[in-house]
Amino acid sequence: METKIISGTEISTAIKDELKDELERLSITPTLAVVLVGDNQASKVYVSNKEKACHQIGIKSMSYTLPADSTQEDVLDLIEVLNADKNVDGILVQLPLPAHIDEHKVIQAIDETKDVDGFHLKNVGALLVGTDGFVSCTPAGIIELLKRSNIDVAGKKCVIVGRSNIVGKPMCQLLLRENATVVMCHSYTPFLKEETQQADIVVVATGKRNIVTGDMIKPGAVVIDVGINRDENGKLCGDVDFNSCQGIASWITPVPGGVGPMTIAMLMQNCVRAAKQRRI
Ligand code: NDP
Repeated sequence: METKIISGTEISTAIKDELKDELERLSITPTLAVVLVGDNQASKVYVSNKEKACHQIGIKSMSYTLPADSTQEDVLDLIEVLNADKNVDGILVQLPLPAHIDEHKVIQAIDETKDVDGFHLKNVGALLVGTDGFVSCTPAGIIELLKRSNIDVAGKKCVIVGRSNIVGKPMCQLLLRENATVVMCHSYTPFLKEETQQADIVVVATGKRNIVTGDMIKPGAVVIDVGINRDENGKLCGDVDFNSCQGIASWITPVPGGVGPMTIAMLMQNCVRAAKQRRI
C-alpha cells in the first residue's frame, strides 16, 4: 500500500491564505496580544513563529515580555489590562510559565471571549457540551487536516495516545463530535499495541519518540503524529517511527511539516473569529 503524506505545511498555507482574503474583504485588522514571561528559548521560537504568521495574514501582534522573576500579580495585572483593552481581540499567554506562577490562575483570568488558545474553563466546557467556544488549536488543526484530506471520521475507531488537557482530551471531544468511536490511551494503558492495532485513525501525542511503530498499526490506518522530539543527531522528529509505517499506513503526518504548522493556522483562525465577534 502506498502511504500518502498529509502535508500540514500545504494545508496550513491554504488556510492562512483564506484568512488573509477574509480579513481584506472585511477590512478589519485583528489584534493579538502575546504574553511571554521569562526567556525560555523554545517559547521564544514559538512566539516568533506565531508573530510571523500574524504578519503574513494581516493580524497585528503586540508582544508583552515580562522578566522571569515577575510575580503572579504582575502577570495577572497585565491580563487585566489586556482584558479591558477594547483594541485587543485575542490574548495568548505562552506556556510554560516559570514554576512560581500558577498557570491555571493566569489562564482563567483571561476573558474567555479573547481566549484564542481555547484553554479557559468556559471554552473547555463549551467543547465538552458541544456549544460554541474557542477550541484548542492543535486538536482543531488535526480535524482540519483530516477533513481537507477527505478522510472520513464518522463511525471510525480512533485511538488517541496521550491525555493532556491541550491535545489528548480535546482531541477526544472533537472526534466524538465527528461521530468516531474513541479510545484514550495513556501511561497506565497496559497493552498499547493491542489498542493501536485496532484503530482506523491513531493520534499520538506523548512526547515519547518511537512510541508507535509500524507493527502497532493496522494496514490502511491513518496516523497523526503530534509529538515534537529530537533524535540522537538533534534532528526534529515525532512520536511515531515514520519509516516503519511506510507501506502500512494509508496516510501519515510528517514531523516537521504535519501537525505543527496547523496549530499556528488554527490560532490565526481563532484570532480572526475573536475579532469578528467583537467588531462585526
Ligand atoms: P504531556 O506531557 O502533557 O502529556 C503526555 C501524555 O502522554 C500523557 O497523557 C501521558 O500519560 C502519555 N504518555 C506518556 N508516556 C506514555 C506511554 N509510554 N504510553 C502511553 N501514554 C504515554 O504532553 P502534550 O500533550 O503537551 O504533548 C505531547 C507531545 O506533543 C510533545 O512532544 C509536545 O511537544 C507535542 N506537541 C506538539 C504540538 C504541535 O503543535 N505539533 C502542540 C502541543 C504538543 P499520563 O497522563 O498517564 O502521564
